[in-house]
Amino acid sequence: MARIELSNLAHSYTPGASEPGDFALKAMNLTWRQGGAYALLGPSGCGKTTLLNIISGLLTPSHGQVLFDGRDVTGLPTEQRNIAQVFQFPVVYDTMTVRENLAFPLRNRGMAGKAADRRVREIAELLDLSGELDRKARGLTADAKQKISLGRGLVRPDVAAILFDEPLTVIDPQLKWELRSKLKALHRALDVTMIYVTHDQTEALTFADTVMVMYDGSVVQAGRPDELFERPDHTFVGYFIGSPGMNVLPAEIEGSRARVGGGTIELSRSYDVPSGRRIEIGVRPEFASLAPPGEGLAATVERIDDLGRARLARLRLGGHPFAASVPEALADIGTAAGVVLERAQVHVYADGKRLEGR
Ligand code: ATP
Repeated sequence: MARIELSNLAHSYTPGASEPGDFALKAMNLTWRQGGAYALLGPSGCGKTTLLNIISGLLTPSHGQVLFDGRDVTGLPTEQRNIAQVFQFPVVYDTMTVRENLAFPLRNRGMAGKAADRRVREIAELLDLSGELDRKARGLTADAKQKISLGRGLVRPDVAAILFDEPLTVIDPQLKWELRSKLKALHRALDVTMIYVTHDQTEALTFADTVMVMYDGSVVQAGRPDELFERPDHTFVGYFIGSPGMNVLPAEIEGSRARVGGGTIELSRSYDVPSGRRIEIGVRPEFASLAPPGEGLAATVERIDDLGRARLARLRLGGHPFAASVPEALADIGTAAGVVLERAQVHVYADGKRLEGR
């Protein structure tokens, strides 16, 4: 197990690049603590795989250093980094049995005999593969093969970290749920640093203690799932996490008052707003409610989405789309409504970044 750090790290696939737009990863200083369960969450193209490949040693960064427990490993190839990896598609030897597949990474590190057998049985047990140990991998389903792949990643007791790159993408949805919570339990049982890359917020939030949200080559927030939900540091985190995400509206701020969508609201804090920046307020649908017209901010109801246990009003507020959770359909489509915001849950952003009020 190791603490992994990136120091002033940046990467461009274009040699000699100097423009920020040419960098797949931009000026990163990050630490993954020993034994932590982390997710790297972000949309396609934000740099997740590039970052993972730099940690594993498949890619050398154009700037900065990778440190394992304080030791500079930037120039070391993958095989000297003691990292286990699980990829999107199963990496399994078809001609070997499940047992041989699971034992392979141990044999490669010189671990054999009773200790290796015990470890293979332990991992097979954790993944419900005990009954399949003597079967050849060839005849098994894609799901079972991906479980073996996970097992091969998890089997070595001495790894610095295990990296997962979208490992559940090809798995059947039902089994996905099962494996997701199983991975969490495995993390507790094995106590090893795990970094899990995904673009799926449910996967990230169920697996990780710390979710790192990536956007355009940077980690814009690293925090517990509840922190990302309640205090998004960046408007991108607000609308990428949540279903639907946070409402973001252009605003003008003066002290603790905000002019939004033709109305005025009181904020719970006072803000010194830098001039010349794009100022917005952000509030999640869960903290916005419908009121009779004339109360709160003026909006028009465009539709009501019935989500089974909850209802979501889709509104137009000052020309912008806006969502509010409502316990029941309070308004008819096309009618005017008021929108009341939970004051403490309204955040203020300048050029996308959350401002701390006073
Ligand atoms: P995805 O989820 O689609 O895999 P990602 O978040 O993993 O996306 P990366 O694959 O790391 O993102 O890509 C980050 C940026 O670097 C993208 O703009 C991508 O086009 C670019 N990129 C990735 N690999 C290469 C490469 N080998 N050569 C040139 N550009 C690359």
